[in-house]
Amino acid sequence: MDSNLNRSGIVFVISGPSGTGKSTICNHVLKTDPRLHFSVSCTTRLPRKGEQDGKHYFFISKEEFDEHISKDNFLEYAEVHGNYYGTLHSEIDRIIKKGEDVLLDIDIQGVTNIQNKYKPISKTVNCHYIFIGPPSFLELEDRLRSRATELEDVIVQRLAAAKIELQHWCSYDSIIVNSNLDDAINNLTTIIEAQRLSRNVLLTSPWDEGS
Ligand code: ADP
Ligand code: 5GP
Repeated sequence: MDSNLNRSGIVFVISGPSGTGKSTICNHVLKTDPRLHFSVSCTTRLPRKGEQDGKHYFFISKEEFDEHISKDNFLEYAEVHGNYYGTLHSEIDRIIKKGEDVLLDIDIQGVTNIQNKYKPISKTVNCHYIFIGPPSFLELEDRLRSRATELEDVIVQRLAAAKIELQHWCSYDSIIVNSNLDDAINNLTTIIEAQRLSRNVLLTSPWDEGS
């Protein structure tokens, strides 16, 4: 990508069932791509071991979450597996205003909310929707259990949600099946690079004087 071009940032919206490998894949790509930034969401769920406030999530109370809602601070928010999660406008704006790209890892309700919200202004915001799915339902179950970050009842809840989520694959622009981790990382990198070549991200002609 030519950094001298006058371009708008792209919003890469990633979704898929819990335990598919979204965080693993995204973290690899975020580490190697200096022009891609993670949108840190707010959540009312408790931090897992090793998770840091402000890096993985903004861990807030339900009262603080409700205050963000009343101030219209969220681009989207949803109740997911019994907790609240929301994407802050401020997280997206600070990145795309610089002409850099942002990556969101959100649930399927959040994707639908953004798709509805951005539809009328799709000429001004470049969103690309990516679904990451497991190679099979059995493998998903295995990954969720091996991750061992949730109690059994939460795992059962997440697996039930996954059955429904997998049916939504056709609402996305790109699909990644995470069988082999290296292949999935390469696929995500390729999708991101291809979108950066899209005409839609250019604000002016590359041949305008002074651009
Ligand atoms: P998500 O963010 O979608 O909930 P995670 O990134 O936390 O999922 O991955 C769930 C578990 O699956 C983790 O233990 C991770 O190490 C493992 N995992 C991710 N990708 C693969 C893969 N391609 N093959 C095997 N295990 C994987
Ligand atoms: P986890 O608790 O495993 O980190 O995330 C649970 C689910 O919440 C995942 O599907 C994740 O993509 C989703 N999620 C994380 N942040 C947001 C957000 O800001 N908005 C929405 N709608 N979902 C989110």
